[in-house]
Amino acid sequence: MSEKDMNAKAKTLFGKERNPSNIQPVKLSLDSKLKFRCHPGVSCFTACCGNIKIILTPYDILILTKRLQIQPHEFLQKYTMPTYLEKTDMPGVMIKMREDDNKCPFVTPDGCTVYTDRPSACRYYPVGMADFREGGSKDTKGNELVSEEERFFFLVKEDYCKGHYEDKEWTVGEWRADQGVDVRDDMNKKWLRLIMRRKSYGHQATLSEQAKRMFFMASTDLAHFRKFVFESSFLQTYDIDPATIEKIREDDVELMFFSFDYLANTLFGAQMSTLKVKDKKIKEKVQEIKERQDDAVISAVKDYEDLKAAMSEKK
Ligand code: SF4
Ligand code: SF4
Repeated sequence: MSEKDMNAKAKTLFGKERNPSNIQPVKLSLDSKLKFRCHPGVSCFTACCGNIKIILTPYDILILTKRLQIQPHEFLQKYTMPTYLEKTDMPGVMIKMREDDNKCPFVTPDGCTVYTDRPSACRYYPVGMADFREGGSKDTKGNELVSEEERFFFLVKEDYCKGHYEDKEWTVGEWRADQGVDVRDDMNKKWLRLIMRRKSYGHQATLSEQAKRMFFMASTDLAHFRKFVFESSFLQTYDIDPATIEKIREDDVELMFFSFDYLANTLFGAQMSTLKVKDKKIKEKVQEIKERQDDAVISAVKDYEDLKAAMSEKK
């Protein structure tokens, strides 16, 4: 793969924004080796925790709000600022750097104060992952197609980062397991697919403001999304298995996965096994469209009759 192709692909990687010239033009696999170690003894300790764009996934927000014991809306106001995701018109949030020193609000001279719950983007460094399935491919049964050939890894090497000169050697797979990245991949996958799907549609396809607001709400504030599900007409509109309803009532991760299905369905019309519009609602909608069409026909006939009458008057 050429350096140009590598960078073009790597730039689609979600997370900390990178200077493409720091991306090493070598395609890595899970078995590839790298030398790296980050610890409080490195001269650059915490240098990477400032002046940086860190996008937060729904799972990052969920875990950080639990860690900080605050509600999502409070977290959003205090620690984040809005951004667009992956150069699309999909709205999301990134960590708001401190005003005085432009550093992450969670960093101190002793390191990251939320380290065990740090965001996905902070865990990926310095091994990025790129994925070829921007359109979100599926098999005939609707299962996500996952194969090692479709993704690859690459090393990001910034000059200031001294971790690359440490002796500790890992495979990419070992490094990712150590950083808890595999779990994050599983948690973030369906959400990233939504963004990549939007990206693959390009700017020609419009997304309504209402759809964007819904994407933002479901992606950033699960407490709000739960209210939407249980305190609006949602459950009268969709057929949802009672066991799923019970799960999403209490379990935040289940609710998060459910929100991804809901977004895939409402934003892109994807058929999801977890939710289906009730037959009654479909019939009501069909009736509404029919009535609108009837009104349109009546109005067109009236226009025609008026025109005919006007023409005969002229004669
Ligand atoms: S969350 Fe932690 S690891 Fe990530 S940038 Fe902030 S201080 Fe650094
Ligand atoms: S070694 Fe790299 S990742 Fe670790 S603190 Fe230094 S700059 Fe950050």
